[in-house]
Amino acid sequence: MDLKAYIRDIPDFPKPGIVFRDITPVLAHPQGLPTVAKEIAAAFADQAIDYVVGIESRGFIIGTVVSHAIGCGFVPVRKPGKLPAAVHRVEYELEYGTDKLEVHQDAIAQGSRILIVDDIIATGGTAAATAKLVNLAGGELVGYGFMVELLALQGRQALPDVNVFSLITY
Ligand code: 5GP
Repeated sequence: MDLKAYIRDIPDFPKPGIVFRDITPVLAHPQGLPTVAKEIAAAFADQAIDYVVGIESRGFIIGTVVSHAIGCGFVPVRKPGKLPAAVHRVEYELEYGTDKLEVHQDAIAQGSRILIVDDIIATGGTAAATAKLVNLAGGELVGYGFMVELLALQGRQALPDVNVFSLITY
C-alpha cells in the first residue's frame, strides 16, 4: 500500500509554524500497521534482534507490531515516573528546555541485540537519548527503524553509527 497517502499534514500543531505529520490514518487502515511491521522487520531480518525498544507513545504502537513480526521481545522506554521498578534515566535537550526518558534497569539481558523503533525521527534527540538508555541497560544497539524520517532536520547525524532504516521520507 502507499503509506505516504495515509499521512496527513496538520499545520500549526503543536505550536504555530510547525507542520505535524499525523500518522493516525495509517493506523486506521487494515493494512497500515502490517505493512510497516513487515518492512521494518525485513530490514533487520538477518540481525538476530533480541528486543525491540519502543519509545512512548507512538513507538509503542509501531514497536510492538515490529517485535511481533520479528518474533522477539518488546521493551518500553517511558516518560518519567511511569515505570514501577528501578529505572535508568536520561535527560536530553529540546528546542526549549529538557525532557527525560526512562527504562527499567533489568529490562534487557546483558549484551542482547536491540532495535529501537519510533514513528518519526525529527531532530533525532529522542532517538539518541534512547540509545543512551540502551547502553545503560547493557544492550548492544544494532539499529533504528522509523516509519517516517524528516530529512531536513538531519536527525540521523545525532544518532550512533548503526543502521538507520526509514520507510517514508519528507
Ligand atoms: P525528535 O526527538 O527526533 O526531534 O522528535 C521525535 C519524536 O517526536 C518522536 O517520538 C515523534 O513521535 C515525535 N514527533 C516529532 N515530530 C512529529 C510529527 O510531525 N509527527 C509525529 N507523529 N510525531 C512527531
